[in-house]
Amino acid sequence: MDHSSPGPSLLFDFDSTLVQVEGADELFAETLANAPDRGGRLARFREITDQGMAGEIPYEQSLRLRVGLLRASRADVARVGEALVGELTPSVHRNRDWIVRNRSRIWIVSGGFHELIAPVATELGIAPARILAHRFRWSAEGFTVGVDPGTALARGGKPAAVREAGIPAPIWVIGDGATDLELREVGLATHFFAFVENRRRSAVVEAADGVLERLEDLPDPAFTHRHRSHSSPSPTQDKN
Ligand SMILES: [Mg+2]
Repeated sequence: MDHSSPGPSLLFDFDSTLVQVEGADELFAETLANAPDRGGRLARFREITDQGMAGEIPYEQSLRLRVGLLRASRADVARVGEALVGELTPSVHRNRDWIVRNRSRIWIVSGGFHELIAPVATELGIAPARILAHRFRWSAEGFTVGVDPGTALARGGKPAAVREAGIPAPIWVIGDGATDLELREVGLATHFFAFVENRRRSAVVEAADGVLERLEDLPDPAFTHRHRSHSSPSPTQDKN
């Protein structure tokens, strides 16, 4: 049975939120290990990532442009996915037990790839069915050749994925990008919290209902309870 605290459904972005980096950027870097002009190609790839996350170009366009540049093997994808477990955002790492305890109301909603997210989800106790993300299309030789058009993400972005997953209201979204904010703007989420521990995008922060410097800043009932129990009336126990 599940004994987690009651509270809102929590939708976490993945890249630059649960982990400190952008998974697709890491994968692209991995595939360029010995390539000439590696630095320039990497910079171009990251620039497209940033334009998509800041909302300067449509996210799906940014994704298609990047996947068009990518040729990763299954081994590359598996290796980078495992490496992302070592890139957990510090406050996520600190609160791993809280995430595991509350996993029955947590989903990961990402414009990245299921294959890259799965190892981190396992580390945080989150079931694969709760990862709403893109999937790669693979060639017969086992290389990425594009984005699987069959996922809800591919059909209609994060809003379609959240709608189809039947997530109970109220829904809070925690993320660093324009596609996270979009979930509140289309009315699927009641609150959007800009998570700025890794990246601070001013257009996203300005539109947010709250700004989280770290995960503990989330005004979630489970955290509120924990903070209350930590604020002792006795000054001798106050380490701050
Ligand atoms: Mg992100």
